[in-house]
Amino acid sequence: CPREFGQTSAPGEIKMDYSDIQTIEHDVLVVGAGGAGIRAAIECASGGLSTGIISKSLLGKAHTVMAEGGIAASLGNVDSRDNWKIHFRDTMRGGKFLNQWRMAELHAKQAPDRVRELEEWGAVFDRTDKGLINQRNFGGHRYPRLAHVGDRTGLEIIRTLQDFCVHHGISTHMECTGLDIILDEGKVSGLLAYWRETGRFVLFKAKAIILATGGGGKAWKVTSNSWEYTGDGLGMAYRAGAELMDMEFTQFHPTGMVWPPSVKGILVTEGVRGDGGVLLNSEGERFMFNYIPEKFASETADTEEEASRWLDGDREARRPPELLTRDVVARAIKKEVEAGRGSPNGGAFLDIASRRPAEFIKKKLPSMYHQFKELAEIDITEEPMEVGPTLHYFMGGIRVNSDSQQTNVPGLFACGECAGGMHGANRLGGNSLSDLLVFGKLAGDGAANYINSLTGQLKCGNEEVGKIIKDATDILNREEGKNPYLVHEELQSIMQTFVSIVRTGEELEAGLDKLQELKADIKKVSAHASAQYNPGWNEALDLKNLIVTAEAVTRAALIRQESRGAHTRLDFAGEHEEGLEYNIVIKRTDSGMSAEKVKRENPPKELADIGFASLAELEGGEIGA
Ligand code: FAD
Repeated sequence: CPREFGQTSAPGEIKMDYSDIQTIEHDVLVVGAGGAGIRAAIECASGGLSTGIISKSLLGKAHTVMAEGGIAASLGNVDSRDNWKIHFRDTMRGGKFLNQWRMAELHAKQAPDRVRELEEWGAVFDRTDKGLINQRNFGGHRYPRLAHVGDRTGLEIIRTLQDFCVHHGISTHMECTGLDIILDEGKVSGLLAYWRETGRFVLFKAKAIILATGGGGKAWKVTSNSWEYTGDGLGMAYRAGAELMDMEFTQFHPTGMVWPPSVKGILVTEGVRGDGGVLLNSEGERFMFNYIPEKFASETADTEEEASRWLDGDREARRPPELLTRDVVARAIKKEVEAGRGSPNGGAFLDIASRRPAEFIKKKLPSMYHQFKELAEIDITEEPMEVGPTLHYFMGGIRVNSDSQQTNVPGLFACGECAGGMHGANRLGGNSLSDLLVFGKLAGDGAANYINSLTGQLKCGNEEVGKIIKDATDILNREEGKNPYLVHEELQSIMQTFVSIVRTGEELEAGLDKLQELKADIKKVSAHASAQYNPGWNEALDLKNLIVTAEAVTRAALIRQESRGAHTRLDFAGEHEEGLEYNIVIKRTDSGMSAEKVKRENPPKELADIGFASLAELEGGEIGA
């Protein structure tokens, strides 16, 4: 029982023998059972490594299962002009050219193979009339590119991966939360976790660890993320000495539910707009036509003619302005609300009812139909939805090598949403699911290569294990202290108020001060004494990751003095040329968290040529390999 450990060990005199703790040994331990984690585990197990996955919740309940719209890959099934170079170019443009060039290249090149592989493993995607995998339009993608299964794509992906994983002899340890990574002379040697049901600790000995824990949306009040997304991977990596990058880029998805209050933030897929839905203000105006900046139109449209049709407000333009990138649409909704043209509950109207027949809506968007029917008593085939921005996704995350996904800590790898670099300043819809599969596989390869080159034995030191246990059990042993739920609420309210969709230096400074004060409260949280079935204790343990996440975002946002992609500074309008020259990297130092600008390498010429090419050059195959 954790309480005993806590009672018998005092700071500086950890003499306990932890050899009676349950110990499980694997070559590789994957933390997180979403798309990235399972795909990484499959790669490790296929290479003959003993592989385990731990997951905070039940297998199959990760964020990946919630993904609705689809997975982006240039299969060219709906428009044969599509190819990896155009996907790469769209991704770089969406990310405001701050993406790691090599990651965006690997992603665009390998995504089609990962989708076909899923199909071979049993995923059943929607089909075109010719029987090919169907693809739909999504914001920022030049051609219909998202392979999908209605609006339940994530469910099909996770079902397929899970089946494959279970039949590959991978050990899955469910409802088991990782607390901290253990190092032996700077190299990964294991991880301490606890079973959520019993509260008992479990030591995983492993030669390599792959973090695939998803994002940290629960640091905000209004979010599409579920309870698991408390930035655990970010916190664990940071404490182990790994670096975080691009943390200032947090994506606010433009369309979350705004009513009723209990479901505020739940996602309304971009698929609604991809399949023809339009945004209206309270005056019935399709306001997105007023938010296409000239520079944006010329950058995003592929021909001058298209750019001028947009700017002239041509309602029949091939790509509707509702499908501009998420940052642009989210800010437009915010402005409409501020101008007093919002919907009754502080959002905008999303109307597909008057644009598509009821049967089409029910067939293409069944989850949305049921979601609104059940949660808001609205029939979306007859009336518009009310939607508004919701914190959705972390572009930033753990800094990794683009090819191997290894961090600067030997043996520590990261992939999926918890890793940074791939999406730059803004992610295009559909590019996360493909990211999970591409980089999940590469992380598995990276870990296998690392293990093959390892020599000597690794140990999990008593002292390190003892320190993690003591930190965790102190919460149970405090006679009184702060309520972890109230502390979490306070953290969410700070982030919602001071580190929101648009930011100023003054607000960020104020937010940072408040987070510093909150750190003191987090050190004093307490939960009732038994570790068994103790949600208060679970919540308290999450706080130390949430605060790392929140502080990292705020510090990075303060340093980036420009507006780029998802990061908007009211006091520094527009993109600055210098902004492209660095990434902001977060590290743990003896004096606390440091955030600094780290110079970016110049892109290889062949990739720069593709990134900045015109569409005609790419379609004609004149540029790039
Ligand atoms: P997740 O799927 O989030 O899995 C994380 C795993 O880590 C979970 O198993 C969790 O239990 C585990 N975990 C966390 N902390 C710990 C810990 N301490 N110990 C042990 N385990 C831990 N993207 C697209 O590309 N297309 C879409 O259509 C799309 N739709 C979306 C719809 C919604 C509603 C949401 C929320 C997201 C959507 N996204 C979409 C984004 C995409 O789904 C996520 O970015 C992606 O699934 C993240 O996958 P992941 O494998 O990195 O992490």
